[in-house]
Amino acid sequence: MSAADFPPWLTPLWQRAFTQGARLPHAILLAGAPGSGKRLFAEKLAQGLLCDARDAQGFACGVCGSCNWFGAANHPDMHRMVPASEEAVDETEGDGEADSGKKEKKKSDQIRIDQMRDMQGLLEISGHQGGRRVVLIDPAEAMNPAAANALLKSLEEPPIDAVFLLVSHAPRRLLPTIRSRCQVWDFPCPEPAVATQWLKARGANDAEAVLGFASGLPLAALTFVEGPLAEARQRFARDMLSLSKGDPLKLAGQWESWLKAKDADKTGLSMTLLVSWLQRWLSDGARLAAGSKARFFRDFAPQLAALSRGRGESWIACYNELLAYRRVAQHPLNARLFLEDVLLRVARGTAA
Ligand SMILES: [Zn+2]
Repeated sequence: MSAADFPPWLTPLWQRAFTQGARLPHAILLAGAPGSGKRLFAEKLAQGLLCDARDAQGFACGVCGSCNWFGAANHPDMHRMVPASEEAVDETEGDGEADSGKKEKKKSDQIRIDQMRDMQGLLEISGHQGGRRVVLIDPAEAMNPAAANALLKSLEEPPIDAVFLLVSHAPRRLLPTIRSRCQVWDFPCPEPAVATQWLKARGANDAEAVLGFASGLPLAALTFVEGPLAEARQRFARDMLSLSKGDPLKLAGQWESWLKAKDADKTGLSMTLLVSWLQRWLSDGARLAAGSKARFFRDFAPQLAALSRGRGESWIACYNELLAYRRVAQHPLNARLFLEDVLLRVARGTAA
């Protein structure tokens, strides 16, 4: 990513990193809403710090030996600490029947103390080229108490060449002693005009629609422009448009298979997500019926308005009914029955 592609609302923070030069703090807490761009920023900052030939603005060259390592996720001076459940799975490893049991075991959502100790052990040895070392902790609130306490020791006596980058959607959940040892950088939510322009440059046909869908957060919106969630959102809307004429029970079966598909987990598709999309759909329908604009499904507004015309109140009632389903959606006892129940209610509640 060159300076030209870099999200413009993050430029002031970027300049802060590189005009401070050698005085970059040893620990930075990147705080802000998910989708504001702090994860991308942390990655670019880490790569820029490790690059052998970064440009005048601090951006990595992308081609040096260090950048190649970084791109292949095996730079010896880059320590990435994420929950085991988010670690990239090596597709070539563990293939075969013998491993299937191990694979199904649920991976931890926490960053644990053994990960922290491994990192600390590596920091005791000097860096690969005597240059900087970067520790990226993402999300920092995933550290369990033991891991957080171990990190505290590193923050109190940091190795001279190490930079700790803590990415957090919920900085208040971190230990106050950790927060106070970091410089806190707040990540802003950009002006809608800036965000839509950036999304358009990245190929969004209807930037306003996806930005609305992602509550104004551009990096979150980008996942609805490219990649599997973009297709999932389109499919969801098409399915909802045909629900008025179709069979809710049949759709429940199709959605069950959709959720069970091999790659569903990786794409971020889940029952909770579908139920929250249903709520957005109902809320937009009610809005349109009341003469307002759609917030989440602007790209489907004409068809959605035709469905809900004159029935705003029953759509609101249906939306309210769905609130009770949100909690159950996290752990339904039976996914199929749950989907059947929800979709029957929605079909009835929104019918002409
Ligand atoms: Zn480079």
